[in-house]
Amino acid sequence: MAMIKVQKGTKDILPEDMPVWHFMEEKAKEIFTKYGAKEIRTPIFEATELFARGVGDTTDIVNKEMYTFEKSERSLTLRPENTAGVVRSFIENGMHRLSAPVKLWYKGPMFRYERPQAGRQRQFHQVGVEVFGIKQPAADAEVILMAVNYLKSLGLNDLNVEINSLGCPECREVFKTKLKQVLKPYLAELCPDCQARYEKNPLRLLDCKVPECREIYAKPEVQDIIQSDFICEDCANHFNELKGYLNALGIKYSINKLLVRGLDYYNRTVFEITSNNLGSQNAVCGGGRYDSLVKNLGGEDVPAIGFAMGMERLAVLLGQKNDEKLTAYVVCNDMPEAVKLAEELRSNGISAEFDLTNKKFVKQLEKASKTAKYAVILGEDEMKSGNVTLKNLETSEQNTLNRKEAINRLK
Ligand code: ATP
Ligand code: MG
Repeated sequence: MAMIKVQKGTKDILPEDMPVWHFMEEKAKEIFTKYGAKEIRTPIFEATELFARGVGDTTDIVNKEMYTFEKSERSLTLRPENTAGVVRSFIENGMHRLSAPVKLWYKGPMFRYERPQAGRQRQFHQVGVEVFGIKQPAADAEVILMAVNYLKSLGLNDLNVEINSLGCPECREVFKTKLKQVLKPYLAELCPDCQARYEKNPLRLLDCKVPECREIYAKPEVQDIIQSDFICEDCANHFNELKGYLNALGIKYSINKLLVRGLDYYNRTVFEITSNNLGSQNAVCGGGRYDSLVKNLGGEDVPAIGFAMGMERLAVLLGQKNDEKLTAYVVCNDMPEAVKLAEELRSNGISAEFDLTNKKFVKQLEKASKTAKYAVILGEDEMKSGNVTLKNLETSEQNTLNRKEAINRLK
């Protein structure tokens, strides 16, 4: 029979990969909790309309990449990102009544029908943070700080923080008009995607990776518009204050005027964190402010800002961590005694296994040295005396102790 294989763009996270994943997940909980963020878990599928309205139907994510299916005449979609779902939950559970800021973090799988390649999967994982209720730039700085410190806690330092301001809907309109004007003569030369974006979402033009388009956007008269300070005074003040905070916090950043981010809902601050060690899919974190999303999805007028990180890309940077070895392997020829001892160790928080197949003593010791840090030997002598022999399997050092002492040592 033909073997059934894992689907294109999806991967098993195998037991040997788990130490890195546990590390990323534990650090997320530890770091984000320190900033007062609480974890939230929203469903993997939502009404398709949530993403059409929340992420925006001019984005690639919504246009081409959604896993959408029908059930009982309802259109459902596997979440391509988690901001829309978190915002839905925020609204539905009346979280605007909680005292601001409301800080939430999440982790979990996302689904996008993309062309699979290094750093790009169809099911991938994100860890992210959303902060609701603060319009001041101090929140922007804190969110960037949370991202940077999380990455630092993983031991990742060789990273670049890029920021930009997209302005507000009002000042952005002026910019869009100017950009369209200067690009009009080149319209026929742009890639089909950009031609569509030109009308629907001209800001996204700057995000295009097609070399021919990039050449056009590099032309001096186009650059004049892109590099101009188009944002209004309020938006400029917000951006300047953010830069001031980042400087005060010692966070190095650069300003990238081409940074527009893929999603429709951003305004003012957008940021990205990239790594020099990832090749072409080098973004590990993307984020930004989305002050109108809560209202657009039917909630109160609540400003918000957040980020999401791609965990597979972080895992690549972290490489493989050493396998987590078992602490103790009980070596004993009396099955009931072995179970009892293993259970006693486990109830004291010590990971332990024993032989389930009645192998010879020597074979059990061999197995122990492959899988555990210590062998806990319960031979005939030990059983008579009520002691155990503890063997350190790295140094081969061996001690006979009473059970209590042995447990304390293993702890
Ligand atoms: P990219 O430009 O890399 O496609 P994006 O703008 O689509 O990124 P976001 O939607 O902001 O990405 O998601 C945040 C992070 O999630 C990205 O920086 C990346 O690390 C990760 N990510 C996004 N799409 C994928 C994918 N298909 N496979 C693996 N990781 C992904
Ligand atoms: Mg993308």
